[in-house]
Amino acid sequence: MRGRSNPLKLPAARGAIVVLIDGLGAAALKARAGYARTLAGALSKKSTLATGVPTTTAAALSTLMTGVLPGVHGVVSYSVLDAATDRIVNQLSGWGGSVDPQVWQRCPTVFEEAQSEGAVRGVAVGPARYSSSGFSAAILRGADYVAAESITDRFAAALEQVRQGSAVVYLYIPEVDSAAHAKGWQSDAWAEALEEVDGALRAALARLPRDVLLLVTADHGIVDVPEHRQILFDENPMLVDGVRHVGGEPRLLHLYLESDLAEGERRALLERWRTAEGERAWVRSREEAIAEGWYGPVDAEVAPRIGDILVAARSLVAYYDSRTATAGSRGMIGQHGSWTSEETRVPLLRFGA
Ligand SMILES: [Zn+2]
Repeated sequence: MRGRSNPLKLPAARGAIVVLIDGLGAAALKARAGYARTLAGALSKKSTLATGVPTTTAAALSTLMTGVLPGVHGVVSYSVLDAATDRIVNQLSGWGGSVDPQVWQRCPTVFEEAQSEGAVRGVAVGPARYSSSGFSAAILRGADYVAAESITDRFAAALEQVRQGSAVVYLYIPEVDSAAHAKGWQSDAWAEALEEVDGALRAALARLPRDVLLLVTADHGIVDVPEHRQILFDENPMLVDGVRHVGGEPRLLHLYLESDLAEGERRALLERWRTAEGERAWVRSREEAIAEGWYGPVDAEVAPRIGDILVAARSLVAYYDSRTATAGSRGMIGQHGSWTSEETRVPLLRFGA
């Protein structure tokens, strides 16, 4: 795009298809390479990228679609505090009301920028259920949405779009992440989902026009956390005394404190978390995390969305508040959100032009 640098050194092309395989970490792909010969065959040390934290879909896809980091686009976690209404808002499914997708995600998308230059059509291809979701309204502004249910149909729809003329097509594949959450990336179900994606990709590559670039990447990787490694942190009252809201996700908690909690009590709570969990988690205050660059530069409007205390799992654990955690959330095996290389390292595979 004009005026943008090209740090990935992508070649000029008439069109591009960007395939986003949700949750496909480079480590998991490599470990199960036998199920994905096309994907794994293109994987090398040079063909991976580090995604930022949180390693979670809402934040990472917002970053992919805007080209800026969470401290600027404003989607800083899976679930965050909306200070205006004093409630926790899910950033994938909880849009609406005070959390207007046109406003809360604060930056123009690459599709809008391409559109304003008048040259390139932006198209998003994904399952019909996301076509009018709040999250799609936040990150896919400026793109036409083409619904296609099966993975094979999504590739066919993407190919059809680039045949029609110059276009940037984003193709979303949620199935691998869903299988990981349900059964883990070491399961048969995950391997089957990966194998299906790989087969559909291989077939699409055979029909890819020569002047079209096809990239495959992911929003984040994955780790498996067995149930016995779930930590019910609320069972220690010293860790929740003074906490008003718990946001984030099991591998990156955001703790929002009572607004009238004195400075000394805030510091004491942070120290109690460090003492209890500092071995198996990175425990930071909001100010520390911002200073360390976790979210990139952070705009003043975005800072209150970040928890007062952040707890990012470094070993294979997941943090739950047993008072509010749903059975669905407690049932997850595949997890992500934190800073481990299994979560941050994702493929960037290049095919075509
Ligand atoms: Zn996920």
